[in-house]
Amino acid sequence: MNYHEMNEKEVERTLNTDFSAGLTNEDASKRRKQFGKNELDEGEKQSALLLFFSQFKDFMVLVLLAATLISGLLGEYIDAIAIIAIIILNSFLGFFQERRAEKSLSALKELSQPQVQALRDGEWVKILSKELVPGDIIKFVSGDRIGADVRIIESRSLEVEESALTGESVPVQKTVSPIQNANLTLGDMENMGFMGTMVSRGSGVGVVIATGMKTAMGQIADLLQNAESQTTPLQRRLEQLGKILIVTALLLTVLVVAIGVIRGNDLYEMVLAGVSLAVAAIPEGLPAIVTIALSLGVQKMIRKNAVVRKLPAVETLGCASVICSDKTGTLTQNKMTVTKVWSGGKIWTVDGIGYEPQGKYYEDNEIIDPRKDKVLQQLLTFGMLCNHAEILQKDDEFVLNGDPTEGAMLVAGMKAGFTRKQLLTQFEIVNEFPFDSTRKMMSIVVKDSSGRQFIVTKGAPDVLAGKSSSILMGNKTQAYGKDVKNMVQEAINGLASQALRTIAIGFKEISPNTLILHEQEAEKDLTFIGLQGIIDPPRPEVKQAVKECKEAGIKTVMITGDHVITAKAIATELGIANKRSKVLEGKDLAKMNLKELEEVVDEVSVFARVSPEHKLKIVQAFQNRGHIVAMTGDGVNDAPAIKTADIGIAMGITGTDVAKEASSLVLMDDNFASIKAAIIEGRNIYENIRKFIRYLLASNVGEILVMLFAMLLALPLPLVPIQILWVNLVTDGLPAMALGLDRPEDNVMKRHPRNPSEGVFARGLGWKVISRGILIGLATILAFMFAYDNNPENLQYAQTVAFITLVLAQLIHVFDCRSEKSILSRNPFGNMYLVWAVISSLVLALIVIYVPFLQEIFHTVPILAKDWPMIIGLASVPTFLLAGSFLLSKSK
Ligand code: ATP
Repeated sequence: MNYHEMNEKEVERTLNTDFSAGLTNEDASKRRKQFGKNELDEGEKQSALLLFFSQFKDFMVLVLLAATLISGLLGEYIDAIAIIAIIILNSFLGFFQERRAEKSLSALKELSQPQVQALRDGEWVKILSKELVPGDIIKFVSGDRIGADVRIIESRSLEVEESALTGESVPVQKTVSPIQNANLTLGDMENMGFMGTMVSRGSGVGVVIATGMKTAMGQIADLLQNAESQTTPLQRRLEQLGKILIVTALLLTVLVVAIGVIRGNDLYEMVLAGVSLAVAAIPEGLPAIVTIALSLGVQKMIRKNAVVRKLPAVETLGCASVICSDKTGTLTQNKMTVTKVWSGGKIWTVDGIGYEPQGKYYEDNEIIDPRKDKVLQQLLTFGMLCNHAEILQKDDEFVLNGDPTEGAMLVAGMKAGFTRKQLLTQFEIVNEFPFDSTRKMMSIVVKDSSGRQFIVTKGAPDVLAGKSSSILMGNKTQAYGKDVKNMVQEAINGLASQALRTIAIGFKEISPNTLILHEQEAEKDLTFIGLQGIIDPPRPEVKQAVKECKEAGIKTVMITGDHVITAKAIATELGIANKRSKVLEGKDLAKMNLKELEEVVDEVSVFARVSPEHKLKIVQAFQNRGHIVAMTGDGVNDAPAIKTADIGIAMGITGTDVAKEASSLVLMDDNFASIKAAIIEGRNIYENIRKFIRYLLASNVGEILVMLFAMLLALPLPLVPIQILWVNLVTDGLPAMALGLDRPEDNVMKRHPRNPSEGVFARGLGWKVISRGILIGLATILAFMFAYDNNPENLQYAQTVAFITLVLAQLIHVFDCRSEKSILSRNPFGNMYLVWAVISSLVLALIVIYVPFLQEIFHTVPILAKDWPMIIGLASVPTFLLAGSFLLSKSK
């Protein structure tokens, strides 16, 4: 028999599980051994060996290998072996760089793995979806992706969108009863849920019947495309730039070789030098270093609770000019406590902290017994019934399982001495219309012990008031007339202006046999009972974060489903809004078209009582005004806005799978301050990438120019091939990577956001590369000429001098690259990775000069002490000359 044909008992027996307690952890791990992990097979990965050999596919490296081979055949064994050794070393470096980049990217993937709520050993726990086994009981709510194939055993208005499997985009309503038909298509199995499909409404519980490749999704897994790897705009721009650089480097190399040959240099010698120069000057390592810088930055963001799901977001973060943030949980703590209760003109205060159900009720500062007031009692108990939250006691601490708003109402009732368990003996819940952010209400249908049937609704007071036709005033019911309306409105405003979140409770009696199937039927003609005012304190760190963003030219906008006055009170407290700020309400927003919204959007800092659907319009309006928008969200309906925003941000704790999938950034702590941290990091990563591009390119320009100058001046080769390759390997590689780890400059958050369309060489970078490159080339050739002194006997010595001058000039210049301003504006020891990289590079350069057997391989001779001042002096010129000119220009 198929699972969809079985009744619940049969399913439970067949899967050998327990619907009330779930599997034991021990049983689960046994089953995991038997059934394997709940994962779909992934495609083959590139093997390490293949990756290593792919390092040699670069055309110039192959040419160099061929040229080296020829030189070997011609008897230059030492040169040939040394060059090959360097090429292999270089390939290892490239290999490790790429491996590291790949590893950190896959580590990222691990982090964003989906989790599910499973019942294990009698308790609901969050586990990784891949840990699920057949027999597990799992819970899912609107916005979740179902983690495995399940037989549904509980459905609360559960609807699932199964288009991934069936192609049908209309959600399927799920039931629990068996279906007696052996030949059903997936789309007709209304009591089953399938891995990867999305809960679009309501909630449910299911028992896992198949995992991994055994699921319906697994059967078609071959058809699923592997996600393509992503490149960022900068990476793409660099790829194009790389091509231009290759052509330029090649042309210049050909020029060097041609002039050299015309000036009478040996053809063979010139070709080998030319090819080495080309290999050195082509920045083939750039893409790998960029990936490493990006992924290292991403790791840093993780430490600050921001997980990047899409690499391009790292760059875009640095351009963000507007952050649209949810209020509840992101700007506030989402630790809610009812502090005020209002009904029929009376107001009560409740004390106590957090979710601990200890506190007293006061009326006019006098302690009262809330059970003695019938209306208050009704307000509290209905709030507890229309509720899914649970308060659990763990090691002397009271923790909430469920929605904080509902938790607060539950605790308010418990403080008055009621428990949900005891209420459920008096009332039976027969149906439920779950909360959604668009309706802003939730209702249940209950029967009391005498068989009377009621609708109980709780929701946003202004909305619920609109659905009420009467109101409880003490013991009397009164029509919901104009006076009442004003009184209620005043009460709502009063609570809201104290930054309290307000929830209203209403009810109506219906005849015992009525079956209510639609919420519209339930949620009308209600009797308004009263209000509960809930405090949700702002997160303490947010105020400072908002301020820093403001200084960085980034506007913070609050978007909330909450009441206008509550929203504005909190926004003012956090520095998002001031007295003059514009607040726009959902109902006004709905009336505006996109053009109209665009006209005012720049002045708005709070959007209140909005539905998730409005968020898309807000994103688009800001974008049309030229902003780069970061937008947070957590629910299913937030997904379109998250996707459209330049940086879509999902909440790690409260966010649904769908919101996370649509996002490019996930906040593990749901905290606004983490967005700011990610923006700082995003800005810094981009600046660091600019730093090493600047360093590498200026170095390469210097290397090519030394050779070109020498040929133009009819001098012999100032550097031999192996020296050029050594410079490329040790002087360029290590410090460039260390620049990728540099800390931000002090003014990262004092500058305006970067223009996303700016090119790699924007803000003077091109000039810096060329000017420093020319100076490095000049300094090196001058040092060579001094040492050569027009005497061919000095050639090897002069080449050694040129080699070390070039190395030193680059190693000094690298410190200049740390700042947009000048080398003098930063402490040189501020980046110890760089200091160590420079020291290692220097030692490796000195070794080849002073260690005798290396001298032979590298064609070097020891440098005389008397020449060091000249070398150091010349090597400092490129950096300090321009630092001096910067200071001069500043002092003017
Ligand atoms: P944000 O958009 O900043 O997260 P929010 O949490 O207030 O704000 P919603 O969750 O859409 O936004 O809630 C909108 C309104 O609906 C709330 O102000 C409250 O009055 C009401 N509300 C919230 N949660 C519930 C609930 N569980 N049951 C009934 N009404 C609720």
